[in-house]
Amino acid sequence: MDRQGIGMTSMRTRERLIQRLMDRGVTNYDVLRVIRTTPRHLFVDEALAHRAYEDTALPIGWNQTISQPYIVARMTELALAAGKPSKVLEIGSGSGYQTAVLAPLVGEIYAMERIKGLLDKSRQRIRDLRLRNVQLRFADGLDGWADKGPFDVILGAAAPDHIPSVLIDQLAMDGRLILPVGGDEQTLTVVTRTAAGLETTAVEPVRFVPMLSGTERD
Ligand code: SAH
Repeated sequence: MDRQGIGMTSMRTRERLIQRLMDRGVTNYDVLRVIRTTPRHLFVDEALAHRAYEDTALPIGWNQTISQPYIVARMTELALAAGKPSKVLEIGSGSGYQTAVLAPLVGEIYAMERIKGLLDKSRQRIRDLRLRNVQLRFADGLDGWADKGPFDVILGAAAPDHIPSVLIDQLAMDGRLILPVGGDEQTLTVVTRTAAGLETTAVEPVRFVPMLSGTERD
């Protein structure tokens, strides 16, 4: 791919995207800065690269999509709301775009993906971008990653129909689980583990692919 050419022509479209995120209420300056500098066109097929800076989800194969930049920005903001998390578990890393946006803003990221083909592609991108604080794993995220926990933030990019208790169990004290919950109608939800128990907040209606159990090798 002509990276330089894409980079040149996309500066304006990138700025337009940042403006749109601000218009939609994204205020965290660090999040906006990282989205501005993350090459989203490298996370989609070349044929779709010209649409990479539109504020829309795009197909990445295997019936999955790269998340809409607005949603990535919103979830990243929520992940940083209580300061810089040192350990983050990401479930459903897909193309690796959300992972790449989080990486410069947090300590360590443990990212899980249940489709082998997507995981392999994202691993190469994360390597090319030299994001050294990311560990990727081909596995069912509904099991969490107990050996590496507890996590300050667990972020899910696919929707289970109810909040998985296994993930709650892997939250550190004051840790937050951020994920869409529901079937046809989904709500971006934040569950915080506090000394007094769990606090659940509904953020906004969203649309994600379903969180599925098991793994797919081809
Ligand atoms: N943020 C990603 C979103 C990818 S779509 C991106 O921007 O590219 C959601 C991803 O969640 C898909 O890749 C899907 O395969 C994955 N997924 C769904 N259920 C999962 C599970 N139980 N464990 C791990 N990954 C899962």
